[in-house]
Amino acid sequence: MADTTKIPYKIYLEESEMPQSWYNVRADMKNKPAPLLNPGTHQPMTAEELGGVFCEELVQQELDNETRFIEIPQEIRDFYKMYRPSPLVRAYCLEEKLQTPAKIYYKFEGNNTSGSHKLNSAIAQAYYAKKQGLKGVTTETGAGQWGTALSMACAYLGLDCKVYMVKVSYEQKPFRREVMRTYGASVVPSPSETTQIGRKILAEHPGTTGSLGCAISEAVEVAVSNPGYRYVLGSVLNQVLLHQSVIGLETKAALDKYGIKPDMIIGCAGGGSNLGGLISPFMGEKLRGEADYQIIAVEPASCPSFTRGVYAYDFCDTGMVCPLAKMYTLGCDFIPAPNHAGGLRYHGMSPVLSQLYADGLMEARAVPQTAVFEAAEQFARVEGILPAPESSHAIRVAIDEALKCKETGEEKTIVFGLTGTGYFDMVAYEKFHDGKMDDYIPTDEELTIYRAKLPKMD
Ligand SMILES: *Cc1c(COP(=O)(O)O)cnc(C)c1O
Repeated sequence: MADTTKIPYKIYLEESEMPQSWYNVRADMKNKPAPLLNPGTHQPMTAEELGGVFCEELVQQELDNETRFIEIPQEIRDFYKMYRPSPLVRAYCLEEKLQTPAKIYYKFEGNNTSGSHKLNSAIAQAYYAKKQGLKGVTTETGAGQWGTALSMACAYLGLDCKVYMVKVSYEQKPFRREVMRTYGASVVPSPSETTQIGRKILAEHPGTTGSLGCAISEAVEVAVSNPGYRYVLGSVLNQVLLHQSVIGLETKAALDKYGIKPDMIIGCAGGGSNLGGLISPFMGEKLRGEADYQIIAVEPASCPSFTRGVYAYDFCDTGMVCPLAKMYTLGCDFIPAPNHAGGLRYHGMSPVLSQLYADGLMEARAVPQTAVFEAAEQFARVEGILPAPESSHAIRVAIDEALKCKETGEEKTIVFGLTGTGYFDMVAYEKFHDGKMDDYIPTDEELTIYRAKLPKMD
């Protein structure tokens, strides 16, 4: 049996040990992430321009590459206390099952109704909207976790919340939709007839089941054309990574309590927010030359932005109304194969993580979805938690690394982010159990087609 006498199964923090500030990793980056550009002029977006779309204080956070710590307002800290600190769990049972000398820890962010880490940024964004005296916010949601998190935050603060939900999810995930409506959000399937861009997309692609990029365009249009509304986004942006740093700060504080230093930190990457948040304080040490860690982003082989994308300016949305971001991207029209069930389907990657990856400070791996669900099931059976498919990308690589340790006899300490639960993903699990899941991987030819549509920069 593993030695459980020293390190408890769950390392909790006291309320008093919870972070009081977010950590802004950009402050320690020598090469700062590239600025967002105006899609018309290709000039960096000014605070004023961004202020038309986003809340003022969030614009400041978006543009701030210098301030290392940004205080978490008391109201947000109080809200965090309702579901944080999240536990850092030592995966003794998984270690035992794998017969590995590796020590595995996971930070579990699924212990709130939204079922994911997204609430960490939703409450912050809703708070600043409220503080600015706005009536409400608009957003898009794919699988539904972000929309749910934002609905919860808006209900708490008394803000109106309009969610554009990718049509295929709207139809396939009626329960997610009802959770959002329970929290008072209005949920519209995207593309819809309620926006100009939605009508245009529907005219060009009748019968389309929608995409994140398209839902973003609709949500932005509604925000900019309704006084008292702003748009909020659940991933990719610098501000979101900043809010999610609470994950990494708690993880580090918990590990420090027991003098544990991880060798390897692993997280799934869709737009990069949970991974960016988890690694932030560790990456900070790495950037300042105080410590070294192996950091691995895991993405689906069917949506491989890091491993097969290009580092270039691209549109964040299909309608090309959003600013341009420099990121690893597959092209803004890229949509993973219909058979893809594992989430993490955004075409681009956070500009912060993109720069860190370009600078060789982190690695990335792409994993096929059946291998992801195998890992999910193995994990569920020994650790009890039913993981979200997204999170299971990280589980896959954590298991692979732990099995390597078994061969080499190395006692590496592995920390991974378990971003959420999979209760609303049972259709995907069903496909897996019935052997109806396959591993479609886009060809180079396909990727070239989408890449050709990247905006031409001078
Ligand atoms: C949204 C989501 C992700 C991916 O988003 P990131 O911004 O890359 O973190 C991962 N896991 C879960 C459970 C999610 O809801």
